[in-house]
Amino acid sequence: MTSKTTPEKPKSGGSKKFSPEYVERLSRILLAFCEGAQEMFPGDSELLKKITDLTRVVEKTIEPQNHSGLAEDIFSYFEEKVAQDDFRGSERQGLLGIVRELTLSLKGMGNPACDLDKSLDEFVTEIEKVESLEDLDRLKSNIKSSARQVQSKVKELSKDLESTQNLCSNLQQKLEKSQATSIMDSLTRVLNRSAYDMRVEQVVNEFNRFDEPCVMMVVDIDHFKKVNDEHGHSSGDKALTSIAHTIKLNTREADMVFRYGGEEFVVLLPKTGAQGAEVIAEKIRVRVASIRTHLVNDTYADKEKRVEITVSLGLAELQKGDTAESWFNRADKALYRAKNEGRNRTVIEA
Ligand code: GH3
Ligand code: MG
Ligand code: MG
Repeated sequence: MTSKTTPEKPKSGGSKKFSPEYVERLSRILLAFCEGAQEMFPGDSELLKKITDLTRVVEKTIEPQNHSGLAEDIFSYFEEKVAQDDFRGSERQGLLGIVRELTLSLKGMGNPACDLDKSLDEFVTEIEKVESLEDLDRLKSNIKSSARQVQSKVKELSKDLESTQNLCSNLQQKLEKSQATSIMDSLTRVLNRSAYDMRVEQVVNEFNRFDEPCVMMVVDIDHFKKVNDEHGHSSGDKALTSIAHTIKLNTREADMVFRYGGEEFVVLLPKTGAQGAEVIAEKIRVRVASIRTHLVNDTYADKEKRVEITVSLGLAELQKGDTAESWFNRADKALYRAKNEGRNRTVIEA
């Protein structure tokens, strides 16, 4: 078999894209190859399946039509072989191998990162030179080795892609977690002191622009030192967590609850005046006082004798000219009064 025409080569220079003409020409050659092989081995189901697969892939690229040039040569080669009765087993195996490897090569075509364009380029040149069964064998082994390279490259790339995707999702999770933990108090699960420092400044600035009422509530646990001393620090921790939870439950979504430090919490109540804030403060106070099971799991505690924990609350409404510090100082002053007046009470800064 000899080629009448020379297929147009793709542009060199490592470009990963094939010209449409090049792909079409190659596809027609492959199609002719498939049709010829199909005629030659009508009873071979394994070969026929390979050929059908290959034909389907190729037909996606081009409209099947009459062969010309090298494709015509390939087709005639098969016609000639079909006409010969004594087609040898080795030849048959050679062709079967080619079809198998062609199919594999084409399956890798979708991946632009492979060196497949180079292999196909060489492969076309090889097809042009095919004149004998030996040539077919040589072609088969060349295609086989490039198909293997393509396969391993694709495998490598998908592994890389998978591990990069895993890495990205791990990093994202870590980032989200660290963002959340950087503003969260790990013990009580309310916002921490740094979050307070940031947020209170914003609230004061917004107040100066929009002039909407806002109240600060400082909540301090009464005689908490005694709770620790009598029942152990871990019981104290449980009480702290339970009180933080009670505060959260009795405030609204828009309110901001912070652990200001030690056994002291601050709640910022936007769009709320002193009267509304006092109602919320009293709800919290009464609720905390009614929880008598804080220390139920305590190792030191006498489980029969339940511990009573109360809180004192100081409130201050944000005023014109206030800074975050002056506002807090006024709320803290109210808290101090609540303590002095007997604890377990709410005082609003006058
Ligand atoms: P007062 O009614 O005047 O507020 O009395 P108090 O005992 O609550 O106040 P004081 O400031 O004397 O003591 C605060 C106690 O809070 C002392 C400290 O051990 C305890 N405390 C602070 N942070 C934590 C904590 O994270 N866990 C526990 N268990 N205790 C804490
Ligand atoms: Mg206290
Ligand atoms: Mg305190």
